[in-house]
Amino acid sequence: MLEARRKEKRYMVKAISSNLGYPRLGEKREWKRALERYWNGAISQEELEKETKQIRLQSLKKQQEKGVELIPVGDFSYYDHILDTSLTFGVIPKRFETDQPSLDTYFEIARGRENAVASEMTKWFNTNYHYIVPELKDAAPHLAFNRPLKYYLEAKEELGIDGKPVVVGPITYLKLGKGSEGDFEGLLDQFIPLYTQLIKELEEGGVKWVQIDEPYLATSFPKEELALYKKTYEAIRAAAPEIKIELQTYFESLDYYEDIVKLPVDAIGIDFVHDHGESLEALEKFGFPADKILGVGIINGRNVWRSDLAKQKALLEKIVTLAKAEIIFVQPSNSLLHVPVTKKTEPDLEEVLWNGLSFADEKLDEIVLLTKALNGEETADFAASTNAVAALNASSHRNNNEVQTAIKNLENVTVERDLPFAERIKQQHEWLKLPLLPTTTIGSFPQSPEVRKKRAEWLKGNLSDSDYDTYIKAEIKRWIEIQEDLDIDVLVHGEFERTDMVEYFGQKLAGFKATKFGWVQSYGSRAVRPPLIYGDVAFTEEITVKESVYAQSLTDRPVKGMLTAPVTIINWSFVRDDIPKSEVANQVGLALRTEVEALEANGIRVIQVDEPALREGLPLKESRWKEYLEDAVYSFKLTTTSVKNDTQIHTHMCYSDFDDIIDTISALDADVISIETSRSHGEIISTFEEVTYDKEIGLGVYDIHSPRVPTVEEIQDNIKRALRAIDVKQFWINPDCGLKTRKEPETIAALKDMVKATKEIRAEYQVTEK
Ligand code: GLN
Ligand code: ZN
Repeated sequence: MLEARRKEKRYMVKAISSNLGYPRLGEKREWKRALERYWNGAISQEELEKETKQIRLQSLKKQQEKGVELIPVGDFSYYDHILDTSLTFGVIPKRFETDQPSLDTYFEIARGRENAVASEMTKWFNTNYHYIVPELKDAAPHLAFNRPLKYYLEAKEELGIDGKPVVVGPITYLKLGKGSEGDFEGLLDQFIPLYTQLIKELEEGGVKWVQIDEPYLATSFPKEELALYKKTYEAIRAAAPEIKIELQTYFESLDYYEDIVKLPVDAIGIDFVHDHGESLEALEKFGFPADKILGVGIINGRNVWRSDLAKQKALLEKIVTLAKAEIIFVQPSNSLLHVPVTKKTEPDLEEVLWNGLSFADEKLDEIVLLTKALNGEETADFAASTNAVAALNASSHRNNNEVQTAIKNLENVTVERDLPFAERIKQQHEWLKLPLLPTTTIGSFPQSPEVRKKRAEWLKGNLSDSDYDTYIKAEIKRWIEIQEDLDIDVLVHGEFERTDMVEYFGQKLAGFKATKFGWVQSYGSRAVRPPLIYGDVAFTEEITVKESVYAQSLTDRPVKGMLTAPVTIINWSFVRDDIPKSEVANQVGLALRTEVEALEANGIRVIQVDEPALREGLPLKESRWKEYLEDAVYSFKLTTTSVKNDTQIHTHMCYSDFDDIIDTISALDADVISIETSRSHGEIISTFEEVTYDKEIGLGVYDIHSPRVPTVEEIQDNIKRALRAIDVKQFWINPDCGLKTRKEPETIAALKDMVKATKEIRAEYQVTEK
C-alpha cells in the first residue's frame, strides 16, 4: 500500500528542465578569436559586439531548440562574470576610474594597461576557471547599469525566450573580493539595497525566474554567517515580492542544509553530484520545505562523461520521494562553463569513447530526457545511455589486467626511500659537489615563435620526425651552452618538445586521449584543452629519457630530469569517474615510477617531479583536505621513491600560500623543493620561521611573470630575506617558475643577474661547498 502510494506520488511530480549557464567560447573558440581580434585592433567594438552577439544568440537558440525550459541569460561575458558583477555595481579600482567606464575600461581592469596593473585573478572555487578579484577597499558601489536585464530583454526580443537571468549573489561576490575582510557586514549593507534595486528592476522588466548564485554556501563557514544570508534575501524578497528566486549552490554539499533551505526564496538549487552523497543524506534527515522548489543538480557539469540515465532517473525519483516534491528543476550540478561545447566536433574519436562522452550540448539533452521521463512523457529509451556507459566500462581500455593487478598489489610496494633524508643527502652531496647556494631553473626555457612554428609544421606533416628531432636537439644544445656560460650549477634541457606539461605526458601514456576542440575557458580569452583520462593508465614508452639523456651527454654538470606528478596530471585533465580519482592517480604514479627508474638507469641522477596543481586541487571543505593530501603524498611517493639514495628528487610548486599544507610538502619527502614566492612579498618566508623544514629548498628569487629584468640588488634582497628563516646550507637559488612564456634576451639577462647575486652572497660565507 505504502509502496503504491509512493509510486503514485513519484509520478505526480512536475519536472522542469533548467540550465545554470552555458559555455562562452563557441564551438570552435569563435568568442576567443573575436576578443583577440578586437584587442589587436583588427576589428572595431561594433564588430566585436556583433560577432559575440551572434555567438550568444546561437547558444540560446540551441538551448531553446533542445527544449530546455529555463534558459539562463546574462551568463554571457566579455571576459569574466565576477568582473561583470563589479562593473554592474560600479566597483572599479581607483587606477582605472573614468567618468564613463567603457568596454575598454573593463578589459583594462582584466588585462592591465600602461601605468596601471591589472586586477589580480584567482581560481573560481576549486575549478580551473579564474575570475578577476574585485577590489572592494574604498569602493563606492552603486548600481551602474542593470546588466542582467539587458540580456533578458535581448533574448526575449530576438528569440522570444523568457530567460532566467543569472546573478552572482552578494555574499559570494563580496567574499571573493579583497578588502571585504574588515567590516564585511558593513560592506554587505551597502550592497543589499543595490541588489534589491537590481532584482526589483528585473521584476518590473517581466522576469519570472532569477537565478542567484551563492556557491559560497557550499563551503565551510562559521554558522553565524547564515544570518547574513537571511537578512540579504529577506530584503530582496520584500523589495521584489513577485519575482521567483532560485538560490543556486554548487560544487559541494551544504553544511547548514536545514537552515539554508529555509531562506526566503522560491527554489534552492543543490548539487547532487559533487556532494559526496551528503545532499541526499541531508534530504533524508531534514526533508525539504513544502513551499519550495528543489533544483536538483543531477548531471555532472564539471566532467565530460555521459550519464547512465536509468541510474540518474532512479536517483531523481528517490530525491523526489524524500523531498515530497511537487515541482523540481532538473539541472546540471553547476554552470556548463566548465565543459566543452559539443562532442560533435570530435568525430575522430573511437566509437566506444565517443559514445561515452557528453559535453555541454549533450548534457542538456540528458537534462531534457530526464525531465520528460519524470513527467511520464514518452521519451527515448534510456538503454542507449546505459549501454554506452557499460560498453566503455567493459572496453579493453578500462580492463588492463596488468595495471589492475599492480593496483591490487600496491600494499606490497615500498613507497619510502631506503635511507632517511639526513643520510641520503650526504651521499647526494658527495657526487654532486655543488657550491653553497646552488643555482638552477624550474625546467622550461622560452618557447620561441620558432619552436612553436616547427612543432606546428611537424604536426601538420610538413616537417619529418627526424628534422623535428634535429631541431629540438639543436635547441637543447644551444641552451645547455647558454646555461654553462651563465655558470648555472644544475641544468635543465628546456622542455622544448612539450606544448604543455600535462598534454605531453598524456600523449605518451595509455589511457589518455586528446580532443580537437574540447576547449574550456581558463581565464579571459585563454582556453585549455584538458586531456581525457578515459582508461587504465599505463606506461607504454619512455617519455622524457631521450631529451634528458641527450642534454646530459653535452655537459659535465648534472642535468635535471623533468616530469609532471600524478595529482597535477589529474587536476588538469577530465578524469574517468567510474573509479576513485585516487586510484587513477596511483595508476599514473605507477607509470611514472617506471619513467623515473628509466631516467635513473640512463644516468639522470637529479629528477624533478612537478606538482604545481597540488594546492589548487584542495577540496572546498577543510574536512576533506586530509584524505586528499594523504592520497596526493602517496601517489607522489609512488612515483619517486624507488630510486637509489644518491639520486636526488626535486619537486616544484607554484603557489605562494603554503601555510596550510607545509606538512604535506615535507611529507612528499623530496630532497629539494622549489616554490614560487616573489609575488607573495615574503609572506611564505614567515611560514618557514615558524616550522622547521629539514630538507633543501629554493624559494623563487625573482618573478618570472613579468618581462622586467630584476636587478642584482632585488634578487639579493630576496635571498637575504629567505636566509633569515632558512639555513644557508639548505637553500637553493632559482626563479619562481618555468621560463616558457618569457623571451630569450630577458631570460638570459635575468639569469645572469641571478647568478651574479648568488656569487656575491656566497663570497660572504666561509664555507663554499654544500
Ligand atoms: N617544469 C615546468 C616548467 O618549467 C613547471 C611549470 C609549472 O610549475 N607550472 O615549465
Ligand atoms: Zn611553477
